Amino acid sequence: MRVGVLAVQGAFIEHEKILQDFGVECLELRNGKDVRQDVDGLILPGGESTTQGKLLRELDMFEPLREKIAAGLPVLATCAGLILLAGQLANDSARYFATLPVTVKRNAYGRQLGSFYTEEQFGDLGEVPMTFIRAPYIESAGEGVEILAKVHGDIVGVRYRNQIGLSFHPELDEDRRIHQMFLGSINGGKSSPCKKKAV
Ligand code: GLN
Repeated sequence: MRVGVLAVQGAFIEHEKILQDFGVECLELRNGKDVRQDVDGLILPGGESTTQGKLLRELDMFEPLREKIAAGLPVLATCAGLILLAGQLANDSARYFATLPVTVKRNAYGRQLGSFYTEEQFGDLGEVPMTFIRAPYIESAGEGVEILAKVHGDIVGVRYRNQIGLSFHPELDEDRRIHQMFLGSINGGKSSPCKKKAV
């Protein structure tokens, strides 16, 4: 099994370390050539979605990645990654992959004071730690979208076909159950150690 991690900006290293701990090979995706390689899954990390979207286009990564996601590649998207997947943004005219039928509100908890920690029910995993950093939340979810978690009544975790979208950052806490769930959903072969590209 090999998982691609979008590595143009943001908190991708933390996801790579977790993949490494699970013994899963990971491929850092930094350019158009990288995204044309075969992977069994994809992680879209947190960071700054406007910058990520701009870099994806400039580096010729946008269309091949969009096609792979639309074709069913399993994706775990956190925070800015969720914004990239969203069909619509409530407070921004930008649209990126638009493969996940949800409306997402950027910086939904306020820009400066919007960072907090909580523990809430997540799908059938029980309570999981949730760290929010200038996070978005999901204002509304379209047909077929499974709601996995809510905080203060707002949707912060969903699954739709091959895509898992989260407002928070599971990679910043010790709990590995969400990554485990994602990896479990990938039909991969044998795992091998993480191969890192030289920067
Ligand atoms: N506020 C960021 C954005 O709108 C997302 C924050 C994050 O990924 N931690 O892109």
